Amino acid sequence: MGLLSLGTPLAWPDARELSEHVRVHGIEQFLSVWRRMRDRQGDAPLWGDELEYMVVALDPEQRTARLSLRQGEILQRLAQCDDSDVLGTCAALPTFHPEYGRYMIESTPGRPFGISADELLRVERDMLVRRRLTRERLLPNEVPMTIGSFPRLGVTDTAFTDPPHEAHGAASHSLFLPDEIINTHVRFPTLTSNIRQRRGSKVRINVPIFRDTHTPEPFVDPTIPYERELFPEDGEARAGAAWADHIYMDAMGFGMGCCCLQVTFQASSMDEARKLYDQLTPLTPLLLAVSAASPTYRGYLGDVDARWNVISAAVDDRTPVERGEAPFAGAGAHNSDTHARRLRKSRYDSVDSYLCENDEARACNDVPLEVNEAVEQRLRAAGVDAVLAAHMAHLFVRDPLVIFSENVDLHDATSVDHFENLQSTNWQTMRFKPPPPGNAIGWRVEFRPMEIQLTDFENAAFSVCIALLTRVVLELGVDWYMPISLVDENLQRAQQRDAVHTQRFHFRRGDAPATAEYTLAELFHGTDDLPGLLPLVHRYLDTQPIAAASRAALNEYLDLVGARADGRLMTNAAYIRQFVRSHAAYRHDSVVSDEINYDLLSTLDAIERGEKEAPGLLPAGYAARRQGI
Ligand code: ADP
Ligand code: MG
Ligand code: MG
Ligand code: MG
Repeated sequence: MGLLSLGTPLAWPDARELSEHVRVHGIEQFLSVWRRMRDRQGDAPLWGDELEYMVVALDPEQRTARLSLRQGEILQRLAQCDDSDVLGTCAALPTFHPEYGRYMIESTPGRPFGISADELLRVERDMLVRRRLTRERLLPNEVPMTIGSFPRLGVTDTAFTDPPHEAHGAASHSLFLPDEIINTHVRFPTLTSNIRQRRGSKVRINVPIFRDTHTPEPFVDPTIPYERELFPEDGEARAGAAWADHIYMDAMGFGMGCCCLQVTFQASSMDEARKLYDQLTPLTPLLLAVSAASPTYRGYLGDVDARWNVISAAVDDRTPVERGEAPFAGAGAHNSDTHARRLRKSRYDSVDSYLCENDEARACNDVPLEVNEAVEQRLRAAGVDAVLAAHMAHLFVRDPLVIFSENVDLHDATSVDHFENLQSTNWQTMRFKPPPPGNAIGWRVEFRPMEIQLTDFENAAFSVCIALLTRVVLELGVDWYMPISLVDENLQRAQQRDAVHTQRFHFRRGDAPATAEYTLAELFHGTDDLPGLLPLVHRYLDTQPIAAASRAALNEYLDLVGARADGRLMTNAAYIRQFVRSHAAYRHDSVVSDEINYDLLSTLDAIERGEKEAPGLLPAGYAARRQGI
């Protein structure tokens, strides 16, 4: 979650005065890195994942599952782990990080993985060690759960946090979420508050409700206080922010409080990083669809399977002018509005342009790219090529959201804080990461669309699959360029309920520079005119000297991804939806009650621990495998 500076964060009106300062120096900081590092060559193909957990307190007597807000203590205890805790189980002591929710923990490997079969087969074990270390530092009734969305985050009929808290906090102004669910570090409430203030209203998230046989028609959320006006924010929902037939949410926490699975790859050079960025971009919607894990929101089943649009709306800081809902204010507008123009997307959204300098990439960059012209001119004048300059100038159309008063005047040759301020709050499906300070790490790309999976077998499977796809890109030389507008369209399709069975996705044909529409099964397994992602991975593996047992172990991961793509196994989202709908207490009204929530989460926990089989979700033998590791 970017850097966590200590200090005094500026309230929005003061931060806004400094946004141009941060942009101007941020781009100088990028230039300083670019000048030093643009010719850097020969970095190894190292990579690593990020796993996000929710700490859930299960109470078997009351049959409740609540979010435990003990992030601070748990992270403190995790920081005290030493080598003796992992002796003989993983290569290096893992790293644990805070995340947005005060019930969230993020883990990363202590040392990045390599790309050999032995290294890839280290991933699941490393993930399991991280889970064990976390679990050992929880209370006996707490479990670290890797689920996309907490089904009852923001309900109003019962508590959903442990301990319970009242909504209507100063940062979120939410009808549903107390500020106490936010990480205590000042960065996070400030981010929340400044997004709301920049935008000029609370964020608005409307997820279509899943229509079951007894879901009221129209569905008008009974928990929205239409009759009451105790707080100013009550009125917003009534005045149109909350849509009929939708689950309404009104705070950053509904999005940033979801969990995801990210993977970062080091490239040998800047050009190779740009190539990886481009070729992985068309895959982002496909991997979102097969990893879909988030069908529930605020105590209801949604009609979507994935979190992406929720989190996109949850941090949408665009002003009404930028959203196209108000006319441009014209001369006299505030300093930070001088760039006021339509911005098509939230700062959390799919990427808008390919990064390589070639004719195909240029032709496929078919969506309008809003750029900060001053930034673009500065980069061009300094010698940065047009494509990279436009990419950075596009990220820099945003304002920095959190500025610490102690961190305003920095040395542009040594600091990257201002650059990272904008870079790390452009939350896109891919991120192009320049080398950080120091000389140890090179140019990297981050693959960001995937949802976290219930088990580390699945998390390893998806991570390893993408890692192998980077080798396919670099060693087999594929060409997956397709219009960015179609990648955008795919990202919407990817979130649809049961996308595996209902959606087709645009993808470049294997036999012509044109796209066609394919099912996920076709995309992953191949057709007459498409080699298919998994056959390509196998083709790459066939070129490698890999022992039979190792190859069989890698194949288990690839088979899992393939089974998810063709529907032989359910996605996490489909499994959760089916569990809720077949629960004895479910009234077919789309409601995920406290009781169903408890049974769901305690069952998921038992599955993860290998105490319960999950036919339809995981391959036969998962439980024995989990118990054996
Ligand atoms: P962020 O939250 O900014 O995306 P994190 O530090 O949480 O970044 O995660 C970065 C990931 O990159 C980790 O999995 C880490 O193991 C991995 N990583 C570390 N060093 C390298 C490297 N040299 N090349 C590639 N990945 C690396
Ligand atoms: Mg994270
Ligand atoms: Mg991280
Ligand atoms: Mg990340």
